[in-house]
This record gives sequence, structure tokens and C-alpha cells, in this order.
Amino acid sequence: MTSTVPPAGRPAGGLPPITMVGPDFPFPYDDYLGHAAGLGQIPATAHGTEVAVIGGGLSGIVTAYELMKMGLKPVVYEADQIGGRLRTVGFDGCDPGLRAEMGAMRFPPSSTSLQHYIDLVGLQTRPFPNPLSPATPSTVVDLKGESHYARTLDDLPQVYRDVADAWQRCLDEGAEFGDMNEALRTRDIPRIREIWARLVERLDDQTFYGFLAGSEAFRSFKHREIFGQVGFGTGGWDTDFPNSILEIL
Ligand SMILES: Cc1cc2nc3c(=O)[nH]c(=O)nc-3n(C[C@H](O)[C@H](O)[C@H](O)COP(=O)(O)OP(=O)(O)OC[C@H]3O[C@@H](n4cnc5c(N)ncnc54)[C@H](O)[C@@H]3O)c2cc1C
Repeated sequence: MTSTVPPAGRPAGGLPPITMVGPDFPFPYDDYLGHAAGLGQIPATAHGTEVAVIGGGLSGIVTAYELMKMGLKPVVYEADQIGGRLRTVGFDGCDPGLRAEMGAMRFPPSSTSLQHYIDLVGLQTRPFPNPLSPATPSTVVDLKGESHYARTLDDLPQVYRDVADAWQRCLDEGAEFGDMNEALRTRDIPRIREIWARLVERLDDQTFYGFLAGSEAFRSFKHREIFGQVGFGTGGWDTDFPNSILEIL
């Protein structure tokens, strides 16, 4: 399991971290987790009542755990394998150290609720080797037969920095990204709702590609093409171009 190290509270002199994007945007679920009263209470007369939990993926297991803590008796029904889409498997007859992730393996530090359960069961995490990240010894970008070896964005030709700037500008201008981040940092839920409602109304029928192409920052086809093939974070995004921009956001 891989993750970036979660920020511990507000960095000295800096902005508070964004910690409420997942899983229950825009609800700060970790506030409930941290609350002395727990997630809720069940009258003592109902303690021991069986509750069916359908599905033994992460959601089902966490649900069962929390129900149990409340004094109920969850029974998990799993049609296939416990773990669902969050499962690590080994291979018969192979080195026991050889493992494959059958689903999720990257968890942003903003997912503090997930981190709560990761800590609870004592799982170890380590930074994910995203392209150009400090955890990555090197990144090779190979586009149309031209290879560039880089440790940071500054090692790449100017056009890549222009594409990165265009994406940032496009988000700021078209998706109120700066304001949304600020609202998330300060956990200003009315403000988050207000911004999101506006975005839903404006971008409801917009694709990811349409969002880029309609932006002044991404006027150049070449820049959109590089963005689609090289992308940000984990790599290219052009296979996601037909998807809704709201889903991407
Ligand atoms: C390839 C891949 C990569 C991913 N990468 C990431 C990532 O890097 N980071 C990230 O955060 N997320 C990632 N995800 C998403 C993440 O894995 C899921 O969001 C998460 O595991 C979902 O958990 P869940 O418990 O809600 O659902 P699931 O894990 O899908 O669990 C549902 C369970 O219910 C069972 N079930 C369904 N119907 C029934 C039924 N009728 N009766 C009994 N059991 C039933 C299923 O068999 C399954 O085990 C990835 C997913 C995939 C597939």
C-alpha cells in the first residue's frame, strides 16, 4: 500500500492542509471519527442486533467495524473476495515478496479518514513514485520519439512548463480552483457547496476535453495534445477526455 505522508495539522506559518476531499466530499468525516462520542449511539436495548452488510470491500469492512463498535452484530455478506477492489495478492509458486495490487494503491494525504483506518490496523505506507515527485529517482518523458530525462519539471523543455501553467490557469479560470481549495482548507462547507453548485450548473454537460478546449489557457492544440499524452500526476489523460469534467474535478 502506498501513500504520501499525511500532513500533521497546520504547517508552521503555512496554510492548513486540504483534508476533506475523500471520501465524503464535502463532509469532513474525520471530524466525526475524531469526536469523543464516536460516530453515533444505539440504545442499549438494541445492542447485539444483527445487521447485514452487503459487500466485503473497504466500505463494507469499515461499516462492519463501526457497527460493531456501536454494539451491533454486523454480518458481512461477500459474493466474491473480502477486500473487493482494494486487495493485494501473491502468486502461487513465486517469491512471496512478489505482490500485485488488484485495485487501489495510491491514496492522497487528503484522505485523512482512510488514513485513520490504515493506522488502526497498522498498515505501512510509503510515498508513491509519481512522475517528477521527490519519491521518484527519475522520470523519462518520451513523446513522438523525443525522450527527456528529468527529476523535476525544470529539467524538461519550456513547453512542458507552459502546459503545466495552462492546466493551472484553466482550473483557476474555469473551475474556481483557487477558491475551492481555500474553502476546502478552511472547511467552509457553505462556500464549498456554493462553488460546487455553480460548477455543476455551468459544467454539467461539459467533457474534460471541452473544458480544456474552451479555455483561453489551452488555445493551442499542441498544448492540449501534450497534456493529453503526458498529463499530470500519473501520466496521460487523453483516455479520460470524453468523461465529464465534473467527474475529473
Ligand atoms: C484498478 C483500480 C485501481 C484503483 N486505484 C485506486 C487508487 O489508486 N486510489 C483510490 O483511492 N482508489 C482506487 N480505486 C478505487 C478503489 O479501489 C475503490 O473505490 C474502493 O476499493 C471501493 O471500495 P468499496 O468497498 O466501496 O467497493 P468494492 O471494493 O467494489 O467492494 C464491493 C464488494 O461487494 C461485493 N458485492 C457486490 N455485490 C454483492 C452482493 N449482491 N452480495 C454480496 N457481495 C456483493 C463485491 O464482490 C465486492 O467485494 C481503484 C480501483 C480499481 C479497480
